[in-house]
Amino acid sequence: MITTDIKLAASFLTAGEVVAIPTETVYGLAGNIYNDAALERIFRIKKRPMTNPLIVHIPKLEAIDRIAKDIPEMAWKLGRQFWPGALTMVLPKQSHISGIVSAGKSTVAVRVPDHPVTQELLGMLNFPLAAPSANSSGYISPTTALHVYNDLNEKVPLILDGGPCNKGIESTILGFEDGEPVVYRMGSIPVEAIEKVTGKIRRKVSTSNVPIAPGMFDKHYAPHTPFVITDDIHKTLFSFAVKFEHIGLMIYGELPELTDHKTAIIFQLSLTGSMEEAAQRLYDGMHQLDAMELDLIIALRFPETALGNSLNDRLQRASFQHG
Ligand code: AMP
Ligand code: MG
Repeated sequence: MITTDIKLAASFLTAGEVVAIPTETVYGLAGNIYNDAALERIFRIKKRPMTNPLIVHIPKLEAIDRIAKDIPEMAWKLGRQFWPGALTMVLPKQSHISGIVSAGKSTVAVRVPDHPVTQELLGMLNFPLAAPSANSSGYISPTTALHVYNDLNEKVPLILDGGPCNKGIESTILGFEDGEPVVYRMGSIPVEAIEKVTGKIRRKVSTSNVPIAPGMFDKHYAPHTPFVITDDIHKTLFSFAVKFEHIGLMIYGELPELTDHKTAIIFQLSLTGSMEEAAQRLYDGMHQLDAMELDLIIALRFPETALGNSLNDRLQRASFQHG
């Protein structure tokens, strides 16, 4: 069931149910961090491997030391700068944080979401919410209540509708190793913006098809339709049009020349070429094209600066299953 009733969502969560919640990044599948049965249900519904930990969502920075310990001064500084917002920090966990949340690790991922509905919800609860993205493991992340409904409706008792997600891609994940910040996942906040506070940050994210650590570059965020990335829509369309009849294009900016293939379905991410707008619409584009039973989706690569890098990361993951 889809609702806009925040009190109803709070009562479900208090009763140990899981609820899909809006955030500014993507929709999350949330449960009480102190209720192991609810946490287990999150993994079961998503078919998420128990080895992949969840993010803890807290109402404000000041609540962080009930979740994490040995918090470096830099983490406080980043929290003050970026929270509420799409920065997730991985920190040593307090011992009472369930090993289900942390997938057995000694660390916990935590952030303050920047969404008025979920802020209000967190304010009504006397526990934080553990929430990974509200999609079946490996499938495209949801950025509307309808995306969640289409993927998980039979399995999720309640979906709290807070409108389309404002940022549209997942949070940037940052850890600390030997006191130094390390990026684990590129995301909604460009690494360059964080580096303005921290100085140069080491990146431990894989940008190729070769994972640097197990699980880091799993098939992820991927449509069922074969998905390729290109720098030249016209050329790629020309070469694939021989083999594939129904082709979808995910583009931004100027429309490509379609003389070879006038029947291609076009999803325009941003007419003005805005990276922020493209991020907002990226997963909706993937969902919509994936529902059209196309033979192939061709996506235009983004410029390799700031948010463009995070968007390219998501395109690459979407194409990964197909080599
Ligand atoms: P999702 O919200 O679906 O994007 O999933 C949460 C993300 O946070 C996953 O990519 C996890 O691997 C990552 N994560 C959560 N906890 C930790 C942790 N303790 N160390 C490293 N990554 C984490
Ligand atoms: Mg996810």
